[in-house]
Amino acid sequence: MRITVASGKGGTGKTTIATSLARSLTTKGQVWYVDCDVEAPNGHLFLDPVFTTQAQTSIAIPQIQTDKCTACGICVSVCQFHALAKIGTSILVFPQLCHGCGSCTWNCPEDAIVEIPNPIGVIESGETQDGIHFVRGALTISEPMPTPIIRALKRGITPPETDIVIIDSPPGASCSAVETLRGSDFALLVTEPTPFGLHDLKQILGVVNDMNIPFGVIINRDGVGDNQMDIFLTEKNIPVLLRIPFSRTLATGIAGGRTLVDLQPEYQQLLQDLFHRISTIVSEQTHATINQ
Ligand code: SF4
Ligand code: SF4
Repeated sequence: MRITVASGKGGTGKTTIATSLARSLTTKGQVWYVDCDVEAPNGHLFLDPVFTTQAQTSIAIPQIQTDKCTACGICVSVCQFHALAKIGTSILVFPQLCHGCGSCTWNCPEDAIVEIPNPIGVIESGETQDGIHFVRGALTISEPMPTPIIRALKRGITPPETDIVIIDSPPGASCSAVETLRGSDFALLVTEPTPFGLHDLKQILGVVNDMNIPFGVIINRDGVGDNQMDIFLTEKNIPVLLRIPFSRTLATGIAGGRTLVDLQPEYQQLLQDLFHRISTIVSEQTHATINQ
């Protein structure tokens, strides 16, 4: 079962929930925690894994062979990302704009383009003391494209069907969150009851609806803000799977890198109950799809 923990905005407590959920389920089977928030991966600060492998991730970018290039400009015109420019009779490559799509190489009539690897980050894996398989991607600082590393990260893990995979998504509703959500059995959307939380929740709801992924909401810091979140969720008939009341003690503990389970052991049962509810929703959805 792949559960992606996502949020329409940063700072809602997404990583706190993802790491706490992973920690709470270690007695229920083999658990994976996959940190796809590759621009700011920080799940390791909560779960403290020992990393045992590290692999570089690259995308293939074009290199122009000037002895073959006739400066026809076809490669420039097919590049949707403006990563190539023709200056006089030279073709310039802007590696940081290149998405590695290969279109320029494919379309070059002179076979004047070779592809070379451009490192964009690393993928690391290891294990926590309580037996969680921990995998994360880390985009190199100043590299602009998180999506290829997220794709490589997800492609690299092949857990058995019975394993529980908790995926920590980048915040927001852009390409990197979409890539992270792709293939998920369930999206757990973390929000807070404020006008900002509601605004950004609506955006990520649009994404999971479009992707046809079953979802539920966790309200973090319940008690702050206003009641507009509850009004909206009731109107839309969206299930609230868990409320975490605002607590200064919890906030201080989380800021110190401790999960909810470490801080208040009763969260272990609450999060296991949450997992049970998610399993039921996913199973009902699967049956509904089969019977259509
Ligand atoms: S398509 Fe090939 S030949 Fe034409 S400008 Fe680009 S590299 Fe040169
Ligand atoms: S690989 Fe794709 S994105 Fe990169 S320069 Fe070529 S056409 Fe543009």
